[in-house]
Amino acid sequence: MNINRDRLSNSPIEKRDFRGREIYIKRDDLLDPEFSGNKARKFYYFLINEFPHVKKVVAYGSNQSNAMFSLSVLAKIKGWEFEYYTDHLSSYLRENPVGNYKNALANGMRLIVGRGEPKRADIEDKQTAFVEEGGRQLEAKVGIKMLAQEIKLWQQGNCIKRLNIFLPSGTGTTALFLQKSLLEMDSRFQAKVYTVPCVGDIEYLKLQFSMLEENILNHPSIVKPSKKYHFGKLYRESYKIWLELRDDMGIEFDMLYDPVGWLTLMANPKIFREPTLYIHQGGHLGNESMLMRYERKYGEDI
Ligand SMILES: *Cc1c(COP(=O)(O)O)cnc(C)c1O
Repeated sequence: MNINRDRLSNSPIEKRDFRGREIYIKRDDLLDPEFSGNKARKFYYFLINEFPHVKKVVAYGSNQSNAMFSLSVLAKIKGWEFEYYTDHLSSYLRENPVGNYKNALANGMRLIVGRGEPKRADIEDKQTAFVEEGGRQLEAKVGIKMLAQEIKLWQQGNCIKRLNIFLPSGTGTTALFLQKSLLEMDSRFQAKVYTVPCVGDIEYLKLQFSMLEENILNHPSIVKPSKKYHFGKLYRESYKIWLELRDDMGIEFDMLYDPVGWLTLMANPKIFREPTLYIHQGGHLGNESMLMRYERKYGEDI
C-alpha cells in the first residue's frame, strides 16, 4: 500500500454556495482515497515517524468507527499487527460486513469483542503502540498543526483578516488542536474555530478540551445544537440536509457528524458575518451502513 505524502499534506479549499450562503470547504476528505479526513491528520505523526521496535498497534472503540479503519490502513503501511477492542458486534454485522468494519478486516484487523476497554498501562510496551479512542492524544497535534498551517497560508494568500472556521466534534481533538495551532501562528490573520458536540453534551466536550489543554483561551467556541441529537440515531432532518448537500454541491459528507454540523451552522447565521470555512473531516466509508439504515427508514419519503 502506498500513500502520496505530497497530497497528504495539502487538501484543496473550495468556494461553494449553500442555501444562499457563500462558504469555503476544506476538502480533507480528498487527502488520499485510503487515508483521509481528520483521522489521517491525527495519525500523521505515526505515519511519518519511524518506530523501529513497534510491531503492533492496539486501539479500541466502536465497530464502525473511522478511526478503526484509518488505523487498519496505517498498520498495513507500517507492517504492524492491528488489534482492536470493541464492546459489541451484532451477529448481523458479523455475517454481513459493511463499511469501515468490512474494510478494516480486509486490511488484517484482529477484532477482540466484549473484553472491555484496554488500558494504556496494560498494553503499551516497546513493541506495542497504543491509541486512545478516536485518536484523542497529544500526537494528534502534529498532523492537525499542518492543517492549521495550510489554512493560515490560504488566509494570507487571500487577504482574509478574520476567518470563522466550523467543524463538528466527537472527542473534540481536531477542533481543539486546530484552534490552538492557529493561535500560535501569524496573529495578523485571525481564525476563530466554532464547533458543535455530536457525541456528548457541551459539558462533555469542555471536559475533553480541558484534558488536552488547560488554558481555556485556547479552546474553540462551542455552539449548542438546536436539539439533543443522539449519536448514531437517525433523524429525518439529518438525512434531508445530507441529501441536499450532496445534490446541491456534489459533495458527500459523513452521515454521523456532518448533518449535526451543517444543521447547527445554518441555525447560527452570525457565524457568516466573516468568511466561513467548513472542514470536511472525511468518513465516507462509514456512510455505507448509515445510508442503508436511512433508506430503510425513510425510503424516498423525505
Ligand atoms: C472522527 C470524526 C469526527 C470527530 O473528530 P474529533 O476529533 O474526535 O472531534 C468528525 N467527523 C468525522 C467524519 C470523523 O471521522
